[in-house]
Amino acid sequence: RKIYLNGRLVSKEQAVVSVFDHGFLYGDGIFEGIRIYDGVIFRLDEHLVRLYESAKSILLTIPLEYEEMADAIIETVRANQLESGYIRVVISRGDGDLGLDPRNCPRANVIVIADVVRLFPEEFYENGLRIVTVPTQRNSPASMNPQVKSLNYLNSVMVKLEAARAGALEALTVNSQGYVCEGSGDNVFIVKRGKVYTPPTYLGALDGITRHAIMDLCEEMGLPLTETPFTRHDVYVADECFLTGTAAEVIPVIEVDGREIGSGQPGPITQQLLSEFRKIVRQQGRR
Ligand code: PLP
Repeated sequence: RKIYLNGRLVSKEQAVVSVFDHGFLYGDGIFEGIRIYDGVIFRLDEHLVRLYESAKSILLTIPLEYEEMADAIIETVRANQLESGYIRVVISRGDGDLGLDPRNCPRANVIVIADVVRLFPEEFYENGLRIVTVPTQRNSPASMNPQVKSLNYLNSVMVKLEAARAGALEALTVNSQGYVCEGSGDNVFIVKRGKVYTPPTYLGALDGITRHAIMDLCEEMGLPLTETPFTRHDVYVADECFLTGTAAEVIPVIEVDGREIGSGQPGPITQQLLSEFRKIVRQQGRR
């Protein structure tokens, strides 16, 4: 593996940052997770836009221009001869001192890792996933807006652990008003009477790139889609439910908190969206 670290491609052993890096000390930084499908970096520009927006939001200066960042990612993928895989872009605030003040961190650390992708086993795409809702909430927009893909992912880590303790691989978060937000690292959709619904991101969800790809597909396929708040009850009584994310793509959900969703099988609209999604991933992006 060749890792991009501040302008150089180095070995895994050389790809190290200081213990004084504020990404390590405080989770002060941002990241992206991007897929490569047969040499195509899926929706690279949408990921870059989100990366630069996250940086702007936390007053972090990425020491690369937009196109330089794109080149760094493409170069890293090439250097690793990856036709398919997963890219992790990490921009930390950089080396500072033990104080919180990032003004003592003169330069952000830029890291690009391109590796094989860890996927849900194919059986879950065929048979669906049983999930639960968990107590952990993603931050309210009044604190750190969950639309910032920050390095502070303790909430999502807790969601994963709480899911595991309930015997599930994934879970949904619910905000303090009782509205369903998202999964640990995925967005959520439900289908009811032929209509598709997903929560608005202001409730406490990341604005997923896969989420957008699915919204675009719904439009192309003539499926009515509404961004609207919904509760756990709405999920329990939905005809279909699925999660979307860079790693998960589109994953059918067949049970939530012990309630069977619809027929208890992956729904037809979910399956259609998954198969259409798998067609477009090689058509949208950069090489
Ligand atoms: N929600 C959270 C909290 C995430 O970290 C992610 C990310 O990967 C998503 C949703 C899905 O977003 P995307 O489709 O851009 O991968």
